[in-house]
Amino acid sequence: MGGKAKRSIELDNRYGAHNYAPLPVVLERGRGVYVWDVEGRRYFDMLSAYSALNQGHCHPAIAAAARAQLGRLTLTSRAFHNALMGPFLKKICELTGQPKALPMNSGAEAVETAIKAMRLWGYRRKGIAPNQAEIIVARGNFHGRTTTIVGFSSDPDSYENFGPATPGFISVNYGSIESLEEAINERTCGVLLEPIQGEAGVRIPPEGYLKKVRELCSSREVLFCADEIQTGLGRTGKMFCLDHEGVQADLILLGKALSGGFYPISAVAGREEVLGLFTPGTHGSTFGGNPLACAIGLAALDVIVRERLPRRAAALGAYFLEGLRALDDPRLLEVRGKGLLLALEFKQPIAKPFCKALAANGLLAKDTHQTTVRLAPPLVITKPQIDAALEIVRRSLSC
Ligand SMILES: *Cc1c(COP(=O)(O)O)cnc(C)c1O
Repeated sequence: MGGKAKRSIELDNRYGAHNYAPLPVVLERGRGVYVWDVEGRRYFDMLSAYSALNQGHCHPAIAAAARAQLGRLTLTSRAFHNALMGPFLKKICELTGQPKALPMNSGAEAVETAIKAMRLWGYRRKGIAPNQAEIIVARGNFHGRTTTIVGFSSDPDSYENFGPATPGFISVNYGSIESLEEAINERTCGVLLEPIQGEAGVRIPPEGYLKKVRELCSSREVLFCADEIQTGLGRTGKMFCLDHEGVQADLILLGKALSGGFYPISAVAGREEVLGLFTPGTHGSTFGGNPLACAIGLAALDVIVRERLPRRAAALGAYFLEGLRALDDPRLLEVRGKGLLLALEFKQPIAKPFCKALAANGLLAKDTHQTTVRLAPPLVITKPQIDAALEIVRRSLSC
């Protein structure tokens, strides 16, 4: 490693809180599926900032929209209207098929917004007794890092020493409709689920699960909130992962690729009967829906539609999956995925050293839970690039 990289890492370690354990790579430039480190070495980015970069690094159309807006107007606060929020929310509503949307910034804020919306609906519409509302979540979930959200995580690293947990959350087994059915009662206002559990290691529920969740929620008068912050906007080969089962949620959460990696932008889209319950003063955010975010978000969504990224993810994901399955390495327990959200699961806890080998060979990926490596390149990746990536994976397995 060169001096420049060493100095950067030393500064990070000296002045930064150690809430991450990054690979020793210092990046300074990105374009499409590639990033370059400070020494000019090129890597495939197969993490894509946890799917925030579906459109690829520094997409020129999004960059142009951001640049133009930077010289015009960046923030008004919601105390006034701005000319771009309406068009942005309209686009989100058209894409999701939902009548209303509420803009926030980080993904965790979208989740928090949905939690408030489901509780609000529970009290105002379902008639749940004050402060008794329950939200059902799944074990293995990842919905962000706020105190309320980590309070219903099942990962000790996430919740330990950060209690007391916010009450009102009930955990069930992911993928089990029976477990969900048993947990629903008259206090239940909503069910919050990832259509595929990304951080848990690309855990795909049994086929038909999401459809059954939808039916169960409808029949028991409970809201279904889908966290598509990681799976949405093309990643799994459809615009939304729920589309694979033809399911419409009551609330859908977007983030990450909603900005194409330029800026934190999130949103909750959902039914009028739910989001329509917020009144002035009951929820907000200084930066939510700001004109810079809306300009970037509009351009980011436009790229997903114009470049048909969901279709690309479906075709190229199938091709990548086939190539990975052909690796046939005895240390591999399973190769799985949907669209371009793929994972290699090893029998032993070798995910981290394997990621180091991948990085040394020019491919950046991240281990989750010691045995799993997620491979999720920007959706603009091409077939020859996948071939080159497969060659790196092959080479890294043999060292
Ligand atoms: C990343 C993620 C979040 C949280 O988003 P932040 O922008 O990091 O707050 C929530 N849900 C899912 C499924 C995610 O992948």
